[in-house]
Amino acid sequence: METRSLRTAVVGAGPAGLAAALRLHAAGASVTVHDAAGAVGGRTRSDLVDGWRIDPAVQLYGSAYATVRGLLRAAGAEPLLVRSPGRDALWRKGRAHEVVYGSPTSMLASGALPLALKLKMGAKYLPFLQRHGSGLDLGSLEQAAAAGLDGESIAAWGRRELGQDFVDLLAAPLLSTLYGMRPDEASSGFYHALAKQGLNLEVLALRGGADGLCRSAADALTAGGASLRLSTPVASVEAADGGVRLSGDGWSEDFDGAVVATPAAAAARFAKFLTPDAEKALAAVRMRPAASLALLLDRPVGVGWFGLSFAAGEGGSVAAVCVEENKVAGLVPPGKGLAVVFAGPHAAQRLQGASADDAAALLMPDVARVLPSLPRTVLATRLYTWEEGWTLFGPGDLGRLPMLRRHAWESSPRAVLAGDWLYAPTVEGAATAGLAAADRLLARLR
Ligand SMILES: Cc1cc2nc3c(=O)[nH]c(=O)nc-3n(C[C@H](O)[C@H](O)[C@H](O)COP(=O)(O)OP(=O)(O)OC[C@H]3O[C@@H](n4cnc5c(N)ncnc54)[C@H](O)[C@@H]3O)c2cc1C
Repeated sequence: METRSLRTAVVGAGPAGLAAALRLHAAGASVTVHDAAGAVGGRTRSDLVDGWRIDPAVQLYGSAYATVRGLLRAAGAEPLLVRSPGRDALWRKGRAHEVVYGSPTSMLASGALPLALKLKMGAKYLPFLQRHGSGLDLGSLEQAAAAGLDGESIAAWGRRELGQDFVDLLAAPLLSTLYGMRPDEASSGFYHALAKQGLNLEVLALRGGADGLCRSAADALTAGGASLRLSTPVASVEAADGGVRLSGDGWSEDFDGAVVATPAAAAARFAKFLTPDAEKALAAVRMRPAASLALLLDRPVGVGWFGLSFAAGEGGSVAAVCVEENKVAGLVPPGKGLAVVFAGPHAAQRLQGASADDAAALLMPDVARVLPSLPRTVLATRLYTWEEGWTLFGPGDLGRLPMLRRHAWESSPRAVLAGDWLYAPTVEGAATAGLAAADRLLARLR
């Protein structure tokens, strides 16, 4: 079939879905994007409240996000991507130590770590990361499995190779802050790939909010004639008459092909084209609820860092605090402040369906412990929750990625799956999955 005459549907207007839509549109197919929410962005979505631009989930992009950069370029929005100062802090033994997160070299210079750990890092860990070279790549984590680094957690590996301080002071804060995982449940290969990327990483942010990628992709698509249907939950995608049928509340429509770009559990609920083996594979993708509390402040927080994470066991119910006026200019009204407080795993679970007041009661005592004067400056609070928040990459998961992708792309001749769970739990991983899924579908339909 001529690509020009193909009618395609995308379910999900997060980074994976919009990457797929851009690729389908560039190939000449007609594209209709559906999302259950009232705005594009998925977990990158930003919120505008009384002049405060709140990024409740996704905070940072990285210089290694080549696919994201390419998509921004394609949407004419590359200038949105700017360098963030990248100054963070680690809370340890009652004070904040400045660090550059993910960067072992900066860690070596920081006062956050004991000398013995720094020496081990220099003598053992940095050479280990160099030795594994291109085998540690967040874009193809299955390589870490092939190198034998997916059989145990980073807690088990770290305790044995570098000692408990490595687990408590490096692995725990990085994983809980950026990936919602504990060291005992993260694959060692996943952590090593992160650390390898951190050796040479610039921290980037999007001017105007983390959803700039999705908003500019959606604008480019609609300007080019694609349709965007928001507030349109899709209840089923099934094979029909040589194509696929999408249905929702009181509507259904047929297309030549579809990309379903949602968290794996959501796809498993409504993608009726999955084989029993594919259903089993999707059911094994683990996710964890996430929650954050935005604090709109009558003045800047008054610290030099953007993100504060915690040594293992020191954060209480809080996983991280982000000071938005220190991330990128323009998110916070002049003279005001904005802190986004990320709940730890147990607190995030408890806060699903709770109110902002419940969240404040749970989280503020731990915030006040590290920023004692902050509670007096709070003008308003907003709670954000995601039942399907963090995608976990545990021991064994990296080796299963190729099999998972086969199920995602070969269950149906007319429909494919995308989402961060097929590559890496980041916007870059999601965008990569979206492009790959669209390419599979196009190859199948042409
Ligand atoms: C708290 C938090 C902080 C994070 N911070 C970062 C960060 O700083 N940097 C980074 O790179 N990554 C970060 N991530 C990860 C990042 O958010 C995800 O990897 C990325 O958003 C995944 O994109 P996606 O398109 O696969 O899924 P999503 O972004 O979840 O998009 C899926 C879309 O599908 C829609 N949908 C679901 N079901 C249906 C249905 N039945 N019908 C129609 N639409 C449906 C949803 O509404 C949603 O818009 C963070 C995640 C969380 C939870």
